[in-house]
Amino acid sequence: MAEEKAEEKKEIPAEVKEKLKERYGEAWRKELRKSLPVKERMKIARQKMPEREPEERNKDFNEVNLGLEAEMARREAQRCLDCANPQCVLGCPVGIDIPTFVKLVEIGDYAQSIRIMKETNSLPSVCGRVCPQEIQCEEICNLKKATVSSQIMKGTEVRFSFQRLPRRQATKWRSSAQDRPA
Ligand code: SF4
Repeated sequence: MAEEKAEEKKEIPAEVKEKLKERYGEAWRKELRKSLPVKERMKIARQKMPEREPEERNKDFNEVNLGLEAEMARREAQRCLDCANPQCVLGCPVGIDIPTFVKLVEIGDYAQSIRIMKETNSLPSVCGRVCPQEIQCEEICNLKKATVSSQIMKGTEVRFSFQRLPRRQATKWRSSAQDRPA
């Protein structure tokens, strides 16, 4: 009889866990968590990505999505519960520190949020558009499990941050040690 292979349990690597824990404990993160209770965060509706009208977009090959406005991106970021055990990171093939970058969007520090993404992903603005997030980071977002509603739109938050910066500046940042936030 063939031995059944036990299903491998995916876990966040120890060194990544350590980094997440360290950042989770930073003073600004604690303050931000305190500023809006989890219950209130869970009441915020998932933001809807604005789109071009069908009559307009059926005449060209330009993007359908228009990107989030600043307030929408902040509201969407507020929905993130900043979990102590952020399962979303496990769902990201390159292990982006999702809670940190989302919380940076919440406080409006878009430049730093891009630096966080670029630590493990050299093309985050592309991934923000083409990654199948609904079956990756969004699929295992703790918020989805907790509310049976919608998980955080991480890709749209990535795209939002990039649209706030001049293209050249955003492209220039690479994940070199000295470029990483402390
Ligand atoms: S699992 Fe979802 S709610 Fe928790 S930190 Fe990640 S994005 Fe935020």
